[in-house]
Amino acid sequence: MNVYADNAATTKMSKRAIEAMLPYLDQVYGNPSSLHSVGQRAAEALASARERVAGALGCTPREIYFTSGGSESDNQAILSAAAIGARKNKKHIISTAIEHHAVLHTLDKLKKNGFEITLLDAHENGIVRTDELKSAIRPDTCLVSVMYANNEIGSIQPIAEIGGICREKGVLFHTDAVQAIGHIKVDVVKDNIDMLSLSAHKFYGPKGVGVLYARRGVSITNLIEGGAQERGKRAGTENIPAIMGLAAALEDAVSRIDESSKKLTVLRDALINGIMQIPHTILNGDSVRRLPGNVNVCFEGIEGESLLLLLDSKGICASSGSACTSGSLDPSHVLLAIGRPHDVAHGSLRLSLSEENTMEEVEYIIKSVKDTVSYLRDMSPVWRDLQEGKKKYVIQ
Ligand SMILES: *Cc1c(COP(=O)(O)O)cnc(C)c1O
Repeated sequence: MNVYADNAATTKMSKRAIEAMLPYLDQVYGNPSSLHSVGQRAAEALASARERVAGALGCTPREIYFTSGGSESDNQAILSAAAIGARKNKKHIISTAIEHHAVLHTLDKLKKNGFEITLLDAHENGIVRTDELKSAIRPDTCLVSVMYANNEIGSIQPIAEIGGICREKGVLFHTDAVQAIGHIKVDVVKDNIDMLSLSAHKFYGPKGVGVLYARRGVSITNLIEGGAQERGKRAGTENIPAIMGLAAALEDAVSRIDESSKKLTVLRDALINGIMQIPHTILNGDSVRRLPGNVNVCFEGIEGESLLLLLDSKGICASSGSACTSGSLDPSHVLLAIGRPHDVAHGSLRLSLSEENTMEEVEYIIKSVKDTVSYLRDMSPVWRDLQEGKKKYVIQ
């Protein structure tokens, strides 16, 4: 059986998204900036996509900037807020230790340029505490950036409360909502969000296209200079086919959220219950405030990479954490930040489901994970030491 369970890394495109793109690859190929009719047809498509995206997010079309994806949107949001802050000599930014590297590495860059960064603790359940945010805000704080939901452990942050606190204190609030959009309900107005990042390939759309939402009145700084596209804030000929795919995928995902999250929650909980039967296993992330398709566990005495390779040989695509850290030997910064020791963090497994997955596949995953974990433990000298009492279990 072949099971794709790595939807937090990327999703398979929906038929609707593919069909929405096709006319813009051959028939409507104009440049939206051209004045002739071929160009104007592309410009009309772009305008309609912007309206539909705004409709799905509950904002106005002028607040939508198309980008190349989540990473670019995160970079632009943070650097824009930093530029606004620097003009007022406010150079303090608050974020969390479990953000995506697109956020953390941008903050590292700002730190080298004289900004002070406070990373909030995400605690064992992967959720920040709003009282800790409140006390971290200073008169010179120019930005709070907290992700909506975590890409590795699925924990969902109290975004509406965080937005409320930031609005009250007059601090800009950005959220990396790449894992949330299309999967859980997001309301940029009610949640008091000033800037939001999303990426189409995380909700069955194409890769290489995303959106930066910036509330009216928030001044955005260019990362790319050139033409006047995106109201002068993001130069470069617009990727019309990808933008059309994004708009279709977004409308589809947002309109089906109740249905899809209900279905995914059932699959997710069956998967968690099955896998947690394996002795000395711990769930990462909050059991309730959690993305509907996310499962993340650590197994004592297991090397995550070996587990992944053996699962792949059984037809199961999974991940040990984020796709970004694979290839490096460092354990996930998210698992370390929620307090997992190094060797435990190395034994992690993330399974992220989509609506295409079935209960039959979930049962196959459970059986395969159980078999593979016992196979690996039987061969492991560390496991023998644990069983003989020469070493203490970290996971009870
Ligand atoms: C995937 C992801 C990103 C990066 O998005 P790209 O479109 O791949 O650049 C950023 N943040 C989170 C939380 C993600 O899951």
